[in-house]
Amino acid sequence: MKEMLKRWSVADSANVYGIKEWGAGYFDLSSKGEVVVRVETESGIAETSLLDIIRGIEDRGFGMPVLLRVENVLDQQISRLNESFRQSMKSFGYRGRYQGVFPIKVNQQAQVIEEVTRFGARFNHGLEAGSKAELVIALSMIQSTESFIVCNGYKDPEFIDLGLQTTSMGYKVFFVIETPTELPIILERSEALGIEPLIGIRIKLSSRAGGHWQDSGGDNSIFGLTTSQVVEVVDRLREHDMLHCLRLLHYHLGSQIPNIRDIRTAVRETARYYSDLVGEGAPMGYLDLGGGLAVDYDGSQTNFVHSKNYNLDEYTADVVEVLVGVLNEREIPHPTVITESGRATVAYSSMLLFNILDVTQYTPGFIPEQEPPAPDLPESLANMYEVRRTLSVRNLQECYNDAIYYREEIREEFEHGNIALRQRALADSLFMDIIQRIAVLLKKVKRVPRELEGLQEGLYDIYYGNFSVFQSLPDVWAIDQIFPVMPIHRLDQEPLRRAILADITCDSDGKIDTFGAVHDVQKSILLHELQDDQEYYLGVFLVGAYQETLGDLHNLLGDTHVVSVRIKADGGFDVVREIEGDSISDVLSYVEYNPKTLVENFRHKLEQAVRDGRISVAQRRKLLQAYEAGMRGYTYYER
Ligand SMILES: *Cc1c(COP(=O)(O)O)cnc(C)c1O
Repeated sequence: MKEMLKRWSVADSANVYGIKEWGAGYFDLSSKGEVVVRVETESGIAETSLLDIIRGIEDRGFGMPVLLRVENVLDQQISRLNESFRQSMKSFGYRGRYQGVFPIKVNQQAQVIEEVTRFGARFNHGLEAGSKAELVIALSMIQSTESFIVCNGYKDPEFIDLGLQTTSMGYKVFFVIETPTELPIILERSEALGIEPLIGIRIKLSSRAGGHWQDSGGDNSIFGLTTSQVVEVVDRLREHDMLHCLRLLHYHLGSQIPNIRDIRTAVRETARYYSDLVGEGAPMGYLDLGGGLAVDYDGSQTNFVHSKNYNLDEYTADVVEVLVGVLNEREIPHPTVITESGRATVAYSSMLLFNILDVTQYTPGFIPEQEPPAPDLPESLANMYEVRRTLSVRNLQECYNDAIYYREEIREEFEHGNIALRQRALADSLFMDIIQRIAVLLKKVKRVPRELEGLQEGLYDIYYGNFSVFQSLPDVWAIDQIFPVMPIHRLDQEPLRRAILADITCDSDGKIDTFGAVHDVQKSILLHELQDDQEYYLGVFLVGAYQETLGDLHNLLGDTHVVSVRIKADGGFDVVREIEGDSISDVLSYVEYNPKTLVENFRHKLEQAVRDGRISVAQRRKLLQAYEAGMRGYTYYER
């Protein structure tokens, strides 16, 4: 009789990994079961399989891991942001404009800033600089005098001089005052150079927002002026007859604000400040709402920290609607709206691709039958066998408790030397076997005991990936950030193994063991069994924001290769740029070793070994070559 098995389909994979939910239209599955990137091109929608891109990268001589950037995705995010504001302003009768800036700190990589300014030029999309180094980048990269440069952060006289001088070249450089001490320096430098500044003030809002960075927006945030400080700044400017230089009001609620209500509340409060500053006689004209526009990393569309309960159009519509409401009521002219969206602008365009090197499966070891129990079998072990023998749907909870109890007992006996290593190993295998059997039986019961919920998720394999969490996904380690993770091929096959991911640092924190799920997080994900003759590739998605410069050299695993592609209308792609990752010798120099000296030292050791007759001259040459080849190698696992 033929069984009526429902065949696994690509659509099932799409469900399991939620790609349609978090993919924002950029990522989907092909009928072949591969992840594709989908973008708009001049002649319509084009899509390319990530596996094809990996093949192309490998053919060019780069191994995994690779950070892949897709330029069209970055372009499209900038377009979407600008178009969405334009549309919302039109539909609410807003009489000002929108003109965004990209905060450099979110991804300072030259190639990203080049693309943001190149493509952004059509919208006069500008840059936000939070330090002198970032201002230096901004002044050189900005393409049009119409684009804004917003300067936040601590500003010393040198910083201010540089900004003022570019103002005299016709560029719009705003100095945002974050602390009261900055104003006197700005006034002093402005007078000395005879150049009038464009001044902004950053306020602390009393409304607080949820999310990781919630403390940077509210009353006790470390940045921004309190209401009384705002009043002081206004008075001071008026005293110096400089109130006409006060042009911009700024706040930043913090990054990744998941709840649209918090965004509305902040805009409303800010609009009140703005109106009153106009009432004070400042010309104003610019309202900068900072960053905070969130990314839905788990695809749940909720106000969970890794998600957001609004889409881009709702964000822009809400911002504009609230502004129109408050400003019209007081008959205040509509300012140019600026936002400093970083995360949402770049997150989608980068992904980390790597191969799986090895797997440790959740499988109990060999368990010999003991029926009847051997006479020398310790009692606790015999009890463990008994638990397994009596296990049934009716006593799952009881057997679970007993198994845990006996395993503890056996561990104690082992510690006291009453049980040998082999017996302890047998007990551990029995325990794993019992848990696995319970997990199978759980599927047959209607009401799963609370304690046993999620048991299935806990029985996972460990997949070892060719990457470093610390270098490529620092937020996974530092703030438990969730990123979408999934295989990029074989998605027409059912993934049958539950797994967590370990990186190659061997550090106990070098792992990904929390994954997005629709209403929650889950402790493991489904992956396919490895096939002997085939690489298995995974992708970690939406990693374009904040990951690249926070990464560190844990275990001296360095920068990965970076490859930028542009997808073409016919579904092909051009490799726009390849940046080779760090070699071993590169990372050694970062920690102040001199690679030449290291080779020299090793050469001495070899020579000594030849002298002592431990190796031959021919061996010496081979060893030296191996050492030097090691120096030139990639810091990751090379096949
Ligand atoms: C970090 C930062 C941003 C970027 O925030 P996102 O949430 O990434 O858009 C914007 N403005 C300021 C002042 C920041 O410090």
